[in-house]
Amino acid sequence: MKVVLAREYGFCLGVRRVLKMLDNSLTSGKKVYSIGEVIHNPVVIEHYKQRGVEFVNSPLEAKDGIGVVRAHGLPQSCIDEAQNKGFEIVDGTCVFVRHISKIITQERSRLPDISVFLVGEPEHPEVIAATSDLDGQVIVLDYRTFDPSSFSFPQKAVILSQTTLEEEKFLSVVSAFVREGQEIFVYNTICPSTRRRQRAARELAKQVDAVIVLGGKKSSNTRRLYEICRAFKPSYLVERVTELPLEEIKTYQVVGITAGASTPDEVIQEAVHYLEKL
Ligand code: SF4
Repeated sequence: MKVVLAREYGFCLGVRRVLKMLDNSLTSGKKVYSIGEVIHNPVVIEHYKQRGVEFVNSPLEAKDGIGVVRAHGLPQSCIDEAQNKGFEIVDGTCVFVRHISKIITQERSRLPDISVFLVGEPEHPEVIAATSDLDGQVIVLDYRTFDPSSFSFPQKAVILSQTTLEEEKFLSVVSAFVREGQEIFVYNTICPSTRRRQRAARELAKQVDAVIVLGGKKSSNTRRLYEICRAFKPSYLVERVTELPLEEIKTYQVVGITAGASTPDEVIQEAVHYLEKL
């Protein structure tokens, strides 16, 4: 079987950064806690569990060691509270997530009467990390239920995006605001890694018979890649290659592989070797 890899796939900048923080913390000899799943990938989580990392939900549970905050972050106030109580916390929140909070604060002070919208999934950890300290300053607009025909559009608005949103979905909400409003300021805060991986996945899907998307089922950016690919070709979202329906896969001549921003290289290489032998 011929296997084609996407032009860009796998670990992003934010994931590499937080894993380095975790590795550095492990060399300290202290107990290490991951606050939240450090990244959404079961293979990586298991790897760190084996190395003694304990997974907890709150920085206040990292009592007797170092607490590393997951890549998709926590509200700054949670981290400050733990640090003020003397907890040793390393903030792995991705810079692109923090950047969203900074833009919202900056735009609210520049244009105090304007409505600010963040397009995304309200329940996603990165949206909570970016907005929950900004009560009343930003409205999280769920693109899955957004209905332009019943939405009351303001004349002036600032619009931002969740970092891992699919670009087309963001642009569709933005274009509705631009059509109905007068002064619309748009910040495309989809992170560069997500954008590049999405474009590469689209290109890949157009040139192969089917696409395997490798990554954690809870990973938002992996699910986006899957949604993009399946709009073009039969696509399979799996955590490891061994989960694939083999007889079905054997019917394709050329299979593409892409992987979410939290999928380790060993999982991708395993899939390439496995499929090339079919
Ligand atoms: S996908 Fe983007 S926002 Fe999320 S951790 Fe990676 S670089 Fe940061």
